[in-house]
Amino acid sequence: MDHFQLKNGAMYAEDVPLSRIAEEVGTPVYVYSRATLERHARVFREGLAPVAEASGREPLCAFAVKANPNLAVLKVLSREGFGADVVSGGELVRALTAGVPADKIVFSGVGKTRAELQLGLDKAIGQFNIESTEEGRELAELAASQGLEAQATLRINPDVDARTHEKISTGRAENKFGIPLVRAREVFAELAALPGLNLRGVAVHIGSQLLDLEPMEVAFAKVGQLVADLRADGHTITHVDLGGGLGVPYKAGDVPPSPADYGRMVARATAGWDVHLTFEPGRVIAGNAGVLLTRVVRVKRGGNGPPFVIVDAAMNDLARPAMYGAWHDFDAVAPTGDRMVANIVGPICETGDTFATDREVDALQSGDLAVFRTAGAYGATMASSYNSRGFVPEVLVDGDKYAVVADRIPADAIMDAERVPDFLQD
Ligand SMILES: *Cc1c(COP(=O)(O)O)cnc(C)c1O
Repeated sequence: MDHFQLKNGAMYAEDVPLSRIAEEVGTPVYVYSRATLERHARVFREGLAPVAEASGREPLCAFAVKANPNLAVLKVLSREGFGADVVSGGELVRALTAGVPADKIVFSGVGKTRAELQLGLDKAIGQFNIESTEEGRELAELAASQGLEAQATLRINPDVDARTHEKISTGRAENKFGIPLVRAREVFAELAALPGLNLRGVAVHIGSQLLDLEPMEVAFAKVGQLVADLRADGHTITHVDLGGGLGVPYKAGDVPPSPADYGRMVARATAGWDVHLTFEPGRVIAGNAGVLLTRVVRVKRGGNGPPFVIVDAAMNDLARPAMYGAWHDFDAVAPTGDRMVANIVGPICETGDTFATDREVDALQSGDLAVFRTAGAYGATMASSYNSRGFVPEVLVDGDKYAVVADRIPADAIMDAERVPDFLQD
């Protein structure tokens, strides 16, 4: 459920008409709903109630910042008690700036630099998820040389096919993430012996937009076996991080597993583990809490096919369709009831700048407003300035008020950071 609904024939974000935001802030613009973010955070946590009950411990929900790193969004989630899963120094600083306590920050990622590891140590973050022997040695040495001890887990690669888009699958043997399961005991033993590191558990994350719980359950069963093996080897295992990945409905009628289904599966899979669990949900929290609001520039008659509805948003603002062939529902802000079949495209000079092909949508004409739904995750954050377009602003709605939570960065501001060197001056 989200809070982008029609009221008296016009689409609102909570109690704010989207037409008002379009007029006052301009288009294209990302619009997020605070009530939807809060609802998703609560539903996710409630879904994990059987896990909390069975283990006697409240799990840590660490929002995957890469899904939506906006400070205001992070603040909403931090106030809901969420921690943060970060994958760069930049995200780490954002999480802290938004008020996420350091001990609720988990640092994931295959390429953390020495400076990023140091930043995590300086800020005393809750957990490093180590992705290689080399990274583990470097972190241990850094920490030990300063008399510190890094809290860490070893991320394993369970070699399961998450049955999602290949670019967002992370748990197959050929993916770059984690330590192959067959080497996990040996690597764990080496790293656990190093001073500077408290290697206290394992982590796993097999991919994103998972619409089927079965691959996750298979991966978690492998993690459970590994925990038992590591304990048999004499290690103390107190923490397991089960990652994120739960999918969301992008198309009206999609029915992904619910957080409650997920929670029941996790409770079953982790029964008897006796550990602190961490989860790293991203998309499931933020996806349906945002839309990309856009205006139709013009409608152009098609060649052989349907007309092109050319909108002022483009692939640089919302990359998912161009990058993953992803579907976003596209709805008029003031639907008339008439429908049309159209190609929905942006202004960028590339055929990849296509949001939908041969799609039945609300009838639209030049000047009309429309939204791409489910744009709250992996939307604004994946934007670029391709075609010298600026960065789209972001708005957070709260009941009957809203605030611009990220300014539009116009193309000339981006140009201001460039210069023509002396040797090219006339
Ligand atoms: C991207 C990512 C997540 C979040 O994935 P979602 O599909 O958005 O839930 C969680 N953990 C790690 C390590 C990630 O890379």
